[in-house]
Amino acid sequence: MNVDGGPTSHGHVWLVGGGPGDPALITAAGLAALRRAEVVLYDRLAPSELLEECPATTLLIDAGKGAGDHAMTQDQINTALIERARAGRRVVRLKGGDPYVFGRGGEEAVALAAAGVTFTTVPGVTSAIGGLAAAGIPVTHRGLASSFAVVTGHEDPAKPEVAVQWERLATAVDTLVVLMGVGRLEAIVPALIAGGRDSGTPSALVEAATTPDQRVVEASLGGIVAAARATGIEAPALLVVGEVVRLRRQLGDGGGLLAGRRVLVTRTRSQASTLADALRAEGAVPVMLPAIEIERRADPDAVRISVERLGTGHYAWTVFGSANAVDVYLDLLAERGADARVFAACSLGALGEATARALGARGLMADIVAAEASGEGMVEALSHEQVAGQAVLLPRAEGGRDALPEGLRAAGATVDELTLYLSAPPAEPPQEALALLRAGKIDIVTFTSSSTVRNLGTLLGGDLAALRDAVIACIGPSTAATAAEAGLPPHVVAEEHSVPGLVAALGAYLHSQAGEAPS
Ligand code: SAH
Repeated sequence: MNVDGGPTSHGHVWLVGGGPGDPALITAAGLAALRRAEVVLYDRLAPSELLEECPATTLLIDAGKGAGDHAMTQDQINTALIERARAGRRVVRLKGGDPYVFGRGGEEAVALAAAGVTFTTVPGVTSAIGGLAAAGIPVTHRGLASSFAVVTGHEDPAKPEVAVQWERLATAVDTLVVLMGVGRLEAIVPALIAGGRDSGTPSALVEAATTPDQRVVEASLGGIVAAARATGIEAPALLVVGEVVRLRRQLGDGGGLLAGRRVLVTRTRSQASTLADALRAEGAVPVMLPAIEIERRADPDAVRISVERLGTGHYAWTVFGSANAVDVYLDLLAERGADARVFAACSLGALGEATARALGARGLMADIVAAEASGEGMVEALSHEQVAGQAVLLPRAEGGRDALPEGLRAAGATVDELTLYLSAPPAEPPQEALALLRAGKIDIVTFTSSSTVRNLGTLLGGDLAALRDAVIACIGPSTAATAAEAGLPPHVVAEEHSVPGLVAALGAYLHSQAGEAPS
């Protein structure tokens, strides 16, 4: 399939299957098309996170809403695809699952072909198969099922003119998968039993498969309607009938302990991606709620003086208190037309590994890294150097702790504190993430600094009740102490104070909770 191809001068349409729900289940070809799209028309069931993959300039059209409150009709969708393509655009039609499985993708393809618009079909993982797999149900299995049928439950089985012949289907295949059927179970299930399917056949409903909201209800065919109503299963859901449902007991829901868990990531937008990527790699669903924004608070005169003093070799040490301090100070230098050479005459200290990495990213090697990412740790690390009588520059956050400057002064050093930024709660926090939090839908909360703890409290108006059932995971002891003071005693404190250390500690904790030894 040629995703890069597509004659863009006269436009082209990609009919893309977005997969069943988990945004990671789109194909590489589908993702490539989205990343180059100029216009995207998307369906309600297409994973909405995928839209973030599009360039910022992409026009996003919600086909479920259309221009006003009404969903676009199929004709309007076809027309929009044709017109945008004729205007020379790269158009992606993003659908849930596979575009040709009850997605009306076939109709769109026919309309495009008739209009002479070129298009590429990018298949997707259909919920009918992948959604079952996520619930631990293989659609076929040697000895249990050698055939399956995927059926729409959308039509009313009571009407004589329906296309689906339930009674004939009932015993024709081993595994029956019904899509769009939750609203009509009361008619579908009796029709299958009337057709000769044993009412004791193992059956299941899988709601919101492959998403953090996935729920599975199992019962015999005869009991599945009552089970569905008792548990309030809603669309989108799959009904599966057949012996393969038994395998669920052996296979479980698949995935690791973090799989499908919603994990709140509270660090700044620019720092969040390493944590989010590590969580995604474990199958978790990161929810971004940057609880801090870096607001610059540098006094230009103080910055100028620090640069002049660095230039004259006044400072023996520059000790960076955080990765943000590194970034802000180096940015300020660049704005003044200076660069890292100002540090030529002094040694560099980094409070913690993350600060050392931030220096590394700017081409600077820290001479000393405090293993313990705290002021005390840095004082301890510097205690082996002769700091008495020496001048130390300390670029840092406003309102930071005083342990480092006080410890250095006690050791006889002259300390110039240079306030560079304030970690403030964001002015416009993402409402979607806050809503999930308030609804108690966050499984795990990560804190990577004391300010993320304090600011999350501020964002929630001081009401931390919504976090009561969540697992609280902190990157290190000082963050953990702040969390405990705030009324959120941490369940997990990383031994290695880094993102991989935090993710590993979280995994070990979940293993121990599941009654297994940490691996
Ligand atoms: N083209 C899609 C199906 C579209 S029809 C595909 O290949 O998956 C819509 C129906 O698909 C829903 O009513 C539901 O039965 C099913 N469905 C889609 N996504 C689902 C999900 N994540 N979990 C359970 N069922 C889903």
